[in-house]
Amino acid sequence: MIVHAVDDVSLHVEEKEIVGLVGESGCGKSTFGKTLVGLHDKTAGEVIFRGERLPRAYKPSDFRRYATSIQMIFQDPYSSLNPRMTVGEIVGEGLRLHSALTSSQIDEAVAQWLRDVGLEPDHMSRYPHEFSGGQRQRIGVARALIMKPEFVVCDEPISALDVSVQAQVITLLDDLKTSLGLTLLFIAHDLSMVRYVSDRMAVMYLGSLVEIGVTDDVFFNPKHPYTELLISSNPEPDPDSERTRPSIAIKGEIPSAVNVKPGCRFAGRCPKVMEVCGVRTPQLRNVQDETSQRLVACHLYE
Ligand code: SF4
Repeated sequence: MIVHAVDDVSLHVEEKEIVGLVGESGCGKSTFGKTLVGLHDKTAGEVIFRGERLPRAYKPSDFRRYATSIQMIFQDPYSSLNPRMTVGEIVGEGLRLHSALTSSQIDEAVAQWLRDVGLEPDHMSRYPHEFSGGQRQRIGVARALIMKPEFVVCDEPISALDVSVQAQVITLLDDLKTSLGLTLLFIAHDLSMVRYVSDRMAVMYLGSLVEIGVTDDVFFNPKHPYTELLISSNPEPDPDSERTRPSIAIKGEIPSAVNVKPGCRFAGRCPKVMEVCGVRTPQLRNVQDETSQRLVACHLYE
């Protein structure tokens, strides 16, 4: 049995750019993010970071080597923090392992980062269970960013939070993006959040990328039938426009990633399906000009 969780995905992220990766739950977004940071071994393909090819399977020394440059903010702020460690130990752990700073310098850095993410320095002596979901996610953000990474994978950092807290964490990331010049891969299934934070967005369906482009272009003029449906099913914040806008639901379930058949993976759910779609797998190609690339994998544009 072969599970193609992520297959033939090629994506580049420029320095100081935020790329949003969207798609339905189970489409392979998190697997892709974890593969980039070495939490999943690659069975094929490569990850190139600043011109250097990263190992196919990370050894403990590789994690040590790349910990200062590549970090991840995890989806679940409840399971991603060690309940036996204090907040000070959690946030300062990376510096303790990977820097030559003294304990008091580390404590100073932790206190400053707690302030930066909207917590108090005296929270250092407390344990994760004493905090709300939103505060825990802030601790996760501080833990990742205290290392001053060059690249951060944010794996659905707000999906486990209440809506009001989601906005706070997004505002925090947006502020830090501007002040620190962060380079991020922002994985989410909430399109509104991706639209708010990302410069470009990539749409994934069943482990493959189907569309990549400048975020607003993709939002206002989606090309791939799956992107169209995904955006049309995303609620508008303005109740008046929400009432009047046409909304088309995506029918059916995302198919199994086991033994994926040839042809377009979206063929079984696509309202524009053609004969060729069940036979040939569409490849990503630019459907605009060189200045504003829009990559789309669909036979409609061949
Ligand atoms: Fe639909 Fe065919 Fe395009 Fe796939 S290739 S999205 S089935 S039109």
